[in-house]
Amino acid sequence: METDIFEKSAPLLIRGVRHEDRTVDVAIADDGAIAAIGADAGREHEYDHVIEGRGRVLLPGLANTHTHAAMTLLRGYADDMLLQPWLAERIWPLEAHLQGDDVYWGTRLACLEMITTGTVGFNDMYFFMESAARAADEAGLRATLSYGFIDLGDSEKREHECRATEDLVSHVSRMANPRIGAAVGPHAVYTVSAEGRSWCAEFAKEHGIGVHVHLAETRTEVDDAVAATGKRPVQLLDEAGLLGPRTIAAHGCWLDDAECRLLAERGTTVSHNPASNMKLATGRAMPYPALKAAGARVVLGTDGCASNNSLDLFEEMKTAALLQKFAWNDPTALPAREALELATTHAHAALGWAGGRLEPGAPADLVLLETATPCNTPLHHPVSNAVYACPGSVVTTTICNGRVLMHERVVPGADEVLAGARQAAGALLARAAAARDS
Ligand SMILES: [Zn+2]
Repeated sequence: METDIFEKSAPLLIRGVRHEDRTVDVAIADDGAIAAIGADAGREHEYDHVIEGRGRVLLPGLANTHTHAAMTLLRGYADDMLLQPWLAERIWPLEAHLQGDDVYWGTRLACLEMITTGTVGFNDMYFFMESAARAADEAGLRATLSYGFIDLGDSEKREHECRATEDLVSHVSRMANPRIGAAVGPHAVYTVSAEGRSWCAEFAKEHGIGVHVHLAETRTEVDDAVAATGKRPVQLLDEAGLLGPRTIAAHGCWLDDAECRLLAERGTTVSHNPASNMKLATGRAMPYPALKAAGARVVLGTDGCASNNSLDLFEEMKTAALLQKFAWNDPTALPAREALELATTHAHAALGWAGGRLEPGAPADLVLLETATPCNTPLHHPVSNAVYACPGSVVTTTICNGRVLMHERVVPGADEVLAGARQAAGALLARAAAARDS
């Protein structure tokens, strides 16, 4: 009997799909891993479901390495402002009224947007992360979740942030969901004291988990650090013990050559967030050529929805490729295939996930793209079209760990998520307005 493809996907066969220059079958086993990929792979077996791959292009599922997912609720709320007043006058006053339910619905909305644009996992830093964990769990995505640790040099606040970090890590470990992990999230050097940074490094080491941090986003961040300590942000993170192969540092716009080399030496990953950087006018593009020359791993992220304002990594791949060419006056910088790798192979590896590659044994984290559509016609080079021509809406099918999350652009429960998020955003604004008026 044929079961619902969303209810129980695997074992599953994708038949006759375009992959690079070949037409292949992809056999997905019961455990959610790719069993075989190639011409006629696994045709002799029985499958609960067969997806017709004709007219589709196969890519690895994308991974978003820097998000504040629940900020989808703030999408379009305040744009076109200077960074400091934007944060202080618009974003923080609203965030002060956030509740766990808002984060749940905001993250569900983010997951829905990611699923519909081919992203299978994300690296998230925010508040009420237990609610974010529930949202990612229910949505079926991979997630690495960190509590945004901010002590502003206040020891009482630091104690609170340590407890919140500990609580999240034990909560995630109790969930025992292999798709969901925790990381430590010291927000940035300008929001976390030296004591706080050291605690985060120790805690991450003790628990064998990664670190998610903002780094060298603005020139002010670097100048202030130098003025206060005589040291640049990379050095401050390094002294705290926060740089290592399990650290993902977002932005990195104002890194100098020596910092690029040190990050490479430590094995630290830098998450490039070009749309957010351009929208907030950080003034300099992340030095991708210098990081690449140093041998550092670079990946792609969107940042939160208040500063992007989308979670579409297809848009982000194009933006990254264009920004890097423009910023360094070099049309050969960040070619299409590298842009795709930043969002797939490298991103999964940076998060310690086994996906991002299409080979037997890897988890079936993959997406199918429509070809009977202008952005994919003609199909000289599928990777070129994916990076330069197509938005994320070209994705028709999204599969994470062998589970079909979207098929033929249908995501079960999408209407409920949209309604819940709309309601939560309205209620959040009403609470903030009531507090302002009282
Ligand atoms: Zn951020």
